[in-house]
Parts: sequence; structure tokens; C-alpha cells
Amino acid sequence: MASQAEGSKEKAVPQPDDRKIGQTTHFTVADRWGNVVSYTTTIEQLFGTGIMVPGYGILLNNELTDFDAVPGGPNEVQPNKRPLSSMSPTIVFKDGKPIMTVGSPGGPTIIASVYQVLLNRLEYGMGLKTAIEEPRIYSNKYPTILWEEGNPAEARKKLTQMGHQWEAEPANIGNVQAIWTDPDTGLYLGAADSTREGMAIGVNGIR
Ligand code: GLU
Repeated sequence: MASQAEGSKEKAVPQPDDRKIGQTTHFTVADRWGNVVSYTTTIEQLFGTGIMVPGYGILLNNELTDFDAVPGGPNEVQPNKRPLSSMSPTIVFKDGKPIMTVGSPGGPTIIASVYQVLLNRLEYGMGLKTAIEEPRIYSNKYPTILWEEGNPAEARKKLTQMGHQWEAEPANIGNVQAIWTDPDTGLYLGAADSTREGMAIGVNGIR
């Protein structure tokens, strides 16, 4: 969340019934002193474990399901151990100062989503909102590619020639929220992905 939203083309916004219900949330926050926070939190499934802490109204998460149920592997269930996670709250520094604060929900697609937005902004020089709205792809099982609507035909063709196979239907991949901190002025630019309910907000007058 930040002080200004940048305009650009938006992805086709899914209808409410199609939206992945938010069991994971990412937010980014910046204050007037230049501090930034990148925060991803999850209860893993809708209503988490379904267990509420009595008297506190906090739902306990269900992250234990991210362990591998088959014993023997590096992600097997063990005491005092955290399961494998893709959550990637990220802060990019330049000359010791934060310039880009970014993250996403989306389970295993999180890392690809954050990486593609970083690439779009930092390497290809897109505006923050454009970098977020640019259609993403995801693959964790060659040759299958998950894709968002709007991927360029040329990219599709090249990847197909390399042997990749595109899923029949488009998907929503991640839901990135980010703040850009202008390294010269310190001004913030916030942008939220249009595929869920997030938005960029600037708040004045909080002491
Ligand atoms: N449990 C997932 C993880 O830790 C996050 C869930 C989600 O983003 O939907 O990678």
C-alpha cells in the first residue's frame, strides 16, 4: 500500500465466484521515515485448521499440510520443523536503501510471480503497475505451462517450439502487491494486482 497508483492495462478481472478465496495475504507497507515492510501470511486453507483460539478470535493455520505426507524426504514431518513454503516477501535494496518491496500469495506459484514482477520492473524498466499486470507464466512440471490471459503470441510460439505445452485454459498466477521507493526523492509508488481485492492506498496525517 502506498501513496499513488499508476494506471495501465488491467488483466481480465475474474468474477467473484471465480476468485480464489483469500487464505493467504500479502501486503507491503512504507512509512514516512522510509521504513518498509513486506509481509506474507497464510492460514493455508479456507478457515485454516477450523480451530479458533478461545477468547482471541485468531484462526490457527493449516500449514502442516505443506509437509510431505510420505516420510523419508527432506520435507517430511518432524518436531520443531517448518514445512516447505513458497512464501517470498521481498525487499530489494540499492546502495543500502530499499527501492522495491514486493510479495504475493499463490502457493507454489509465488516465487515465479515475484520473480517475474522484479524482472519486469528492474530489468525491463516497466512501470510498477504494468510490471504487476503483465501476464505471467508458471511451470513446475515440464512440459506443462500455466498461463495468464494476454501472453504474447510470439512467446507462446517460441516456448511451444522448445517443447512446452500450454494448459488449455488460462489461470490466475499469484497476486502481487508492491511499493516502489524512488531512490532520488524517497516518494512511494504503490500498485496492486487487479485479479483479487488488493489496492494501493496512501494515508496522510497519522502520527
Ligand atoms: N502454504 C503456502 C506456502 O507456504 C502458501 C499458500 C498460498 O499462497 O496459497 O507456500
